[in-house]
Amino acid sequence: MNFRDSEFVEGLLLEDGFRKAGSFDKADVILFNSCSVRKHAEDRLFSNIAELAALKKKNPQLVIGLMGCAAQNYSDKILEKSPLVDFVCGPGNETDIPAIIADIMENRCPVIATNKVNDKRPEFFPEYRSSSFKAYVSISEGCGNFCSYCIVPYVRGRERSREAKDVIREVKDLARRGFREITLLGQNVNSYGGYKILKKGRSKGQGLIKLLTELNKIKGIERIRFLTSHPKDASPDLFRAMRDLGKVCEHLHLPAQSGSDRILKLMNRGYTSKRYLKLIEEYRKSAPGGSVTTDIIVGFPSETKKDFNDTRRLMEKVRFDGAFIFKYSPRPPARSAGFKDDVPKEIKQERLKTLLDLQCAISLEKNLPMKNKIAQILIDGYNIKESQVTGRTRAGKVAVFEGRKDLIGRFVDVRIESVSPHALKGRIVK
Ligand code: SAH
Ligand code: SF4
Repeated sequence: MNFRDSEFVEGLLLEDGFRKAGSFDKADVILFNSCSVRKHAEDRLFSNIAELAALKKKNPQLVIGLMGCAAQNYSDKILEKSPLVDFVCGPGNETDIPAIIADIMENRCPVIATNKVNDKRPEFFPEYRSSSFKAYVSISEGCGNFCSYCIVPYVRGRERSREAKDVIREVKDLARRGFREITLLGQNVNSYGGYKILKKGRSKGQGLIKLLTELNKIKGIERIRFLTSHPKDASPDLFRAMRDLGKVCEHLHLPAQSGSDRILKLMNRGYTSKRYLKLIEEYRKSAPGGSVTTDIIVGFPSETKKDFNDTRRLMEKVRFDGAFIFKYSPRPPARSAGFKDDVPKEIKQERLKTLLDLQCAISLEKNLPMKNKIAQILIDGYNIKESQVTGRTRAGKVAVFEGRKDLIGRFVDVRIESVSPHALKGRIVK
């Protein structure tokens, strides 16, 4: 989501006559996009900004801006925390950035733009995309789920869905321009509500299914992905749609967060581990070769050894293809910031390592059957040193193999010769 926001603002600034500077010291404007989901990301952000002190001293005309969730979170307090910053712009105010920069260049006074956190974004997109063949398409903004640990509803506002007709128009335009793969983005895409005719409540998950069905018809688009799914709103209907709609890739990102029902309740997630496992069973029935990945938090307040073992067991039962595993950090004003952060740092670290090791072994085992198989890869990167290209299978697995740079953007068939936990290695056959 942040990647898409950066690309969007980059497009706005290019249309406004700016050019990309090759380095910090050649820039007139330096803009940071920020994440505040975990404390660690924010700490890094502030140390990165502080490193610009010498540059700003040398060039007082330099404009330093901060956009994204941390900008929304700190708003005017940022000027005390980070006095080098000239402007702060929340996710809802991004369209205003060119005007804000012009204002600062003329008047040289700080600007705080965080008043549109709950607004619908204007249906206006610069042409610019950082890739010419794969694109992110936002289908909803914000979130109304209020998981107790999560800052997103506060810094990105409540959930607002874009209208289906606008999403479809954007994807048709991308297809016309030669894009082949799209990834739909939302904090909880399963509650997508861009179709007015579908009644809320009765239509759980139906909005996304209808949207996927329409997008699947668009000529030129060959792969459709979406994230993130929420277990409380995902349904077997969605999995069947994934099976039946040829362009929708067989990859499900379904964050479990924990395997302990007690912790899931404290997290306000709205499902139990049993329901989660049932969903996975349903998914695998519909998409036998499909992959499934997840997010896990270790060290949530009051997490005991037993709770942690429940999470470990859930991971052993599901056997995810991949998992993002995080140490809990309190994020005020999220509700759990009021709970005692009582799992010691060392225990969080130990639990993180246990799960990372477990996942590494499982990922390897999950990749092994790919050996000697042929996989369709969309090439999206090139490593000049190794003369290798990289890309992904439909299931979202990374593949690496010998190839030229001009293959970027092409689909190729690759025979997989060896596998590691995080990548498949092979050779192009077609
Ligand atoms: N909307 C998505 C993603 C939210 S943020 C979803 O619901 O899954 C991405 C991930 O960051 C979350 O899934 C969660 O695992 C992690 N996360 C969020 N808040 C956190 C916190 N306070 N501490 C540690 N990890 C957190
Ligand atoms: Fe945060 Fe929960 Fe919303 Fe995801 S679903 S963004 S974790 S509140």
